[in-house]
Amino acid sequence: MSDADRDARPESFAHAARAALANAQARANIAHATGTIRRKRAGVVAEVPDWGLLRDAAAAIKDETLGRLDEVLVELESSVRGAGGEVHWARDAAEAGEIVTGLVRGEGAEEVVKVKSLATDEIRLNEALEEAGIRPIETDLAELIIQLADERPSHLLVPAIHKNRVEIRDLFRDRLDLPHLSDDPAELAEAARLHLREAFLRARVAISGANFAAADTGTICVVESEGNGRMCTTLPDVLITVMGIEKAIPRFRDLEVFLQLLPRSSTGERMNPYTSLWTGVRAGDGPRRFHLVLLDAGRTRVLADPAGRPALRCIRCSACINVCPVYRQTGGHAYHTPYAGPIGAILAPQLAGERGAVASLPFASSLCGACYEVCPVKIDIPSILVHERGKAVARERQGVEGWSLQALGRAFATRAGYERAQRLGRRLQRPVAHDGWITHFPPGPLAAWGRSRDLPALPAQTFREWWVSRERA
Ligand code: SF4
Repeated sequence: MSDADRDARPESFAHAARAALANAQARANIAHATGTIRRKRAGVVAEVPDWGLLRDAAAAIKDETLGRLDEVLVELESSVRGAGGEVHWARDAAEAGEIVTGLVRGEGAEEVVKVKSLATDEIRLNEALEEAGIRPIETDLAELIIQLADERPSHLLVPAIHKNRVEIRDLFRDRLDLPHLSDDPAELAEAARLHLREAFLRARVAISGANFAAADTGTICVVESEGNGRMCTTLPDVLITVMGIEKAIPRFRDLEVFLQLLPRSSTGERMNPYTSLWTGVRAGDGPRRFHLVLLDAGRTRVLADPAGRPALRCIRCSACINVCPVYRQTGGHAYHTPYAGPIGAILAPQLAGERGAVASLPFASSLCGACYEVCPVKIDIPSILVHERGKAVARERQGVEGWSLQALGRAFATRAGYERAQRLGRRLQRPVAHDGWITHFPPGPLAAWGRSRDLPALPAQTFREWWVSRERA
């Protein structure tokens, strides 16, 4: 299949990107926001003399974990249980949705407060909760904006990056019934704070993601900037954490490395404002019941491919997204996944088994290498992109070749079938055969192949036909 044919598919990245490019306002908002974060990141990274060694250490810890993930996860399960928590294993999105809705129903709750979690975006947990009659309330400001606008996130860290404050003011005016709200950032934040405060005080169940989970102690770590995560992980009676299995790290002390790399790479801060750590449950302090849902959803498939596996090192900092020249033009919605940008282009197709709308993402890159340079866990994204492109091309070739060989097999199986195929071929070639040659093919699987090749046309009469007519004569 040619690039042009692939890009013309309605579900392809290129097709969605063309539509996104027409939205000049969103492109301006994204360029402004990513530019600001990029400059901040460069400044704080330059302050760390051993940044390169930290990256090496982070990559080594992640590779060690992925190399023995089975052991690390079993240790994590045992540590969480030892600290009074419960552990659940979810093979896929459906199973995770059933586990979480079952737990919320078991508590008799009709709503939950949520702290921003990419894993729950990935498995569309909000939809599963709503189908079960449970109202999810996003408490991260950007996630709240996305939820009120009924949109999908467009950036790992700043899900509403495509919106400016005038658009947010209009949304709040409409959805929070605040007709006199201004677009002053402090006033917008205060409106969200008042809206969420009630929900925090009411909620009996909270749902979070996790940035890291230390196997030796069973400690879960969430980093965030607004304090909403701290409210979610401490106020409600029950806390449910949904975490991709690749977020486990072997030791609590490994956090030392990641907590230096993550805030600098993500928000361009030396330290993120809130780092919440909890280990199981403790009487009189925080939630009374804690559930950890360990999510596979394609991760063991990624683990099985040595060339694609490093994508699981990702700590979701979004540095690669902010430097990506493709993302800066298209924004995140064209990626059809919460994992937009370069990390989405290598991770989402692998998680989905190279199927569906994300299958074309490995082609959503200029292979400039900027993503590799900034990645704090040293994921060689360009190499994985090339590897994934190779898989996509082989799959498509297999499809066309398989189909052609099957058709040929059927035609050659019987004399009648063979002669029918000859007659059909002569009829089909009529519009494109001239002077005994076919020099171009109509749009379709052979069009690209035929652009640089000429093919002899089928003769007007086969040898058999000539023989039969000669005998009759
Ligand atoms: S791939 Fe690297 S740079 Fe991109 S989000 Fe993941 S950790 Fe950050």
